[in-house]
Amino acid sequence: MIGSGLAGLTAARALTGLMDRVTVIERDWLPRGPGRRRGVPQARHTHSLMTAAQQGLEQLFPGICQDLVRAGAVPVRVPEDMLLLGPSGWLPRCATDLSMLSAGRDLIDAVVRDRLRADPRITFLQDHEVVALEPGPEDTVIGVWACRRNRGQPDGWNPEHLIPADFVVDASGRGSRAPEWLAELGYAPPAESVAESGTSYATTLYAPPVGHVADFKSLFLMATAHDPRQAVLNPVEGGRWSVTLAVGDGTLAPTDHAELLRAAGTLRHPLLHDLIETATPLGPVYTRGRTDSRLRHYDRLRRWPDQFLVVGDALAALDPAHGHGMTLAVESALVLDHLLTAHGTAVGISHRLRRALARQVAPVWQSSIRAQRPVRGLRARFGRRYASRIAAAATTDPHAAALLLHQEQTLAPPAALRSRALRATLSPRRDPAATAPPTLTHGPESRGRRPAVPSAPVIGVSTGSAARPRPTGSSAHWPLAAPAGERRGP
Ligand SMILES: Cc1cc2nc3c(=O)[nH]c(=O)nc-3n(C[C@H](O)[C@H](O)[C@H](O)COP(=O)(O)OP(=O)(O)OC[C@H]3O[C@@H](n4cnc5c(N)ncnc54)[C@H](O)[C@@H]3O)c2cc1C
Repeated sequence: MIGSGLAGLTAARALTGLMDRVTVIERDWLPRGPGRRRGVPQARHTHSLMTAAQQGLEQLFPGICQDLVRAGAVPVRVPEDMLLLGPSGWLPRCATDLSMLSAGRDLIDAVVRDRLRADPRITFLQDHEVVALEPGPEDTVIGVWACRRNRGQPDGWNPEHLIPADFVVDASGRGSRAPEWLAELGYAPPAESVAESGTSYATTLYAPPVGHVADFKSLFLMATAHDPRQAVLNPVEGGRWSVTLAVGDGTLAPTDHAELLRAAGTLRHPLLHDLIETATPLGPVYTRGRTDSRLRHYDRLRRWPDQFLVVGDALAALDPAHGHGMTLAVESALVLDHLLTAHGTAVGISHRLRRALARQVAPVWQSSIRAQRPVRGLRARFGRRYASRIAAAATTDPHAAALLLHQEQTLAPPAALRSRALRATLSPRRDPAATAPPTLTHGPESRGRRPAVPSAPVIGVSTGSAARPRPTGSSAHWPLAAPAGERRGP
C-alpha cells in the first residue's frame, strides 16, 4: 500500500481479507495519536465523515464510529442539529437518517491507524517514499522501489531499495505519480478529466465564547448561483469550532483572522460573523487553493499491469466543496474487499477492479463537476429548474429538505422520499419560508427562551442505518431544536 491517508488505511484493511501480510508505505513519520503530518496538508481544513463514509467505515472496522466519538469526534444529525441556509433559505430542523461525524482530520486518521496497528498482519513502513514500480513478467507489477528518509544523507534519503509485493495499491493522494511510474514501464498515460474549481478555502479553529450555549451544533451556509461562497462552522474534539470559508468566485480566501471575520460579515447571513466575533482564535488561518477536480481514466487503458491498482484521491480528486473525498476512499475499499474476496486471489483481477472503481466514482464525479461546470441543453435546464424547485420547497417541506440533503451527500434517496418531495414542489407553498435561522438561542427571539424538543418523524430512512428513537408529539416540520449535545465551553 502506497500512502497512509484514509484511502490507504481503508484499502489496507480490505486487503487483509485476502493477504497474510500488508505493508503500508508512508513518506511521513507517523505520529502516535492525532499528530500533524506534512503529507496531508488538507488536514488543517474542516473534515467530516458523511453518512455513507460512516457506514462504510463501520463495515470495515466494526465499532469505529464509537471509537471516534470516544476520541472526541462529534456526531451531528443532519439537519436536526444544524442551522443550514440552503440555496433558497433556512431548512427546517427535521429528523432524517442523515448525519455527519465531525472531527479534525488528524484525529480521524489516527483512530483508523490505531485499528490497523492492532492487526498483526499489518506493518507500517514510515519515512519511506515510493519512487517506482517493479515490473514482473507478462504485464504485472511485483513490487515497488522505495527510499528511506535519512537526514545524514546529502539529499535526505537513503538509496532506493526493492520491496516485493503480490499486489500494489497506489493511495498516494492528489500528488500521485502513478502516470509517470507507469510511463517508465512503457504504459500509456491515462486520459484525464479536469474541472477547474477556482475555489479557495480558509480554515481556522476557535474556542467558543465563555458561557456559549446553543440549540445547534453546526452552521452551514451553502453557496448559491448568485453567491458562490459557502461557510461552515463544525464542532470538533476538545469543544472547539472548526470554521471554513470557501470562496468560489476566483478571489483569494482570507489569510488572517481580521480578514476572515470581515468576509464572514459579508456572507448571505451574518450569523457566522456573530458567532466568531466573540470566539477566541486558536491558531493561524490556513488557506488552500488548487482544489480542481481531477479524474484519471485508468479503466479506459487497454494495456495495464495486473496486480496494481490506484484508489482515493490518486484516482479521483474532487473539489472538496461537498466533502465527498473520504466517502469515496472508504467506498473504494469496500469495492476492493468484495471483489478480492469473491475472486479469491489478487491475480487476474486488476481489470475488473479498475472498472468497478470507475463505476463507483462516476456518479459522485458527475454531481461534483455539475456544480463546477454547468452543462448546457434542454435536459440540463430541466434538471436545474427541478433542483431550484426542490431547494425552494426545502425551506418549508421536510421531505424536500431531506431530498436536498441526500443529494448533497450523493446518497440515493428512497423512492417514497423522492415522490413526496416532488409533490411538495408541485403544491403551492402553505407556510412562508423562515427568514431567520431556526434557533431559539440566537437572534431576536432568543432571550429568556429555552429550546424545545423536536417531535418530527424521521424522514427518508433508507439503507439499514440505525433507527434513532424519536420523541413523540404533533408538530411535524418546524424548527424545534434539540438542546445541543455539545455545550462545552472553551
Ligand atoms: C480543504 C479540504 C477540505 C476537505 N474536507 C473534506 C470533508 O469534509 N470530507 C471528506 O470526505 N473529504 C474532504 N476532503 C477531501 C479529503 O481530504 C481527501 O479526499 C482524502 O484525504 C483523500 O485521501 P487519500 O488517502 O486518497 O489521500 P491523502 O489523504 O492525501 O493521503 C495520501 C498519503 O500518501 C502519502 N504519500 C504521497 N506520496 C507518497 C509516496 N510516493 N510514497 C509514500 N507515501 C506517499 C502522503 O504522505 C499521504 O499520507 C477535503 C479536502 C480539502 C482539500
